Amino acid sequence: MANLSDLPIRSDLVGKVPYGAPQLQVAVSLNVNENTHRIPEEVAVDIIGRVASAVLEINRYPDREFTKLRVALAKYLKFDLKPENIWAANGSNEVLQHIFQAFGGPGRKAIGFAPTYSMYPLLASGTQTEYLDVSRGERYELNPSLIREAILEQRPNIVMLCSPNNPTGTPLDLESVIAAYDAVSEVTGGIVVVDEAYIEFASDSERSALALLPGRERLLVSRTMSKAFAFAGARVGYLAADPAVIDALRLVRLPYHLSAFTQAAAEAALDHAELMLATVDDIRYQRDRMVLELIDLGLDPYRSDANFVLFGGLENPQQVFEALLAKGVLVRNVGLPGTLRVSAGTESETSAFLEALRQVLNA
Ligand SMILES: *Cc1c(COP(=O)(O)O)cnc(C)c1O
Repeated sequence: MANLSDLPIRSDLVGKVPYGAPQLQVAVSLNVNENTHRIPEEVAVDIIGRVASAVLEINRYPDREFTKLRVALAKYLKFDLKPENIWAANGSNEVLQHIFQAFGGPGRKAIGFAPTYSMYPLLASGTQTEYLDVSRGERYELNPSLIREAILEQRPNIVMLCSPNNPTGTPLDLESVIAAYDAVSEVTGGIVVVDEAYIEFASDSERSALALLPGRERLLVSRTMSKAFAFAGARVGYLAADPAVIDALRLVRLPYHLSAFTQAAAEAALDHAELMLATVDDIRYQRDRMVLELIDLGLDPYRSDANFVLFGGLENPQQVFEALLAKGVLVRNVGLPGTLRVSAGTESETSAFLEALRQVLNA
């Protein structure tokens, strides 16, 4: 068997490491911000029925334009969006990859506001797009002037804004999105991508960047069914933007990229959107409860509008991570000094985490 270093891979990939959050069998898995609730049985039954129908025609390629799914997504998003405004792919990671393929590339530059989603630099490197991290302000917050100055200085073609931000949970106001759009319009005429993977958990989820789309044809708002929708295993992400942007993404997608099974399952799930999102309120409640109890433990949680909490105040995060794992609780060490990140689970999972942490800190 050969080693990676024996192979003639592209020179810019040498020494790179793949995305790799641990996938371990543990009792309480709170490390990748999934919705830990199972989907409702009545939705599961509907999905099985639609997938069963799809299997009868599985000898044929699926609808390349996933028309029904786009209709369903437009209806779910509201904001007067039409199917022509919608794109979808196998997870929003693939949506983001399409964006980098169409708008990035050699000689182009993307920026993100670090710490932010670890996939942005990987997607940039996969498409030979230069990627630059701009530091966030105090307590990982962003504001319009910080964003504007960074864009005027760096002159990016792609601006990545994660709202709420992963791994910090930080909300982003619409003024910051407008500032990014205006600034990039002045320097390069590039695009602004707002990654709203966690927006359904925000205190005011109606304050989405979707409201800013009219008149801003280089603004792209990305969403996913992996988090609030409890559909991570199905791999469905989507995007809303001007129809011209959707045409640009068609240039780089592989033909028939969304399988007939994926389309059927997602259409069924969206028909039950309200039921699928019924756990969101409880998850928010568990998140807010964790924040209060972490403070009570003398720790320092950051402001979060997502379904997870980043907390500081740990002398040795890796040691705490391992001690929690030994108790069957998997969280995430994202490598920010003194911190760990934990997803809000069900009430009992959240309690198990808090109890295990209390024991670890007292030991
Ligand atoms: C989880 C996550 C995604 C979504 O990933 P999928 O490919 O849709 O599962 C996108 N952006 C951020 C910031 C995330 O945390």
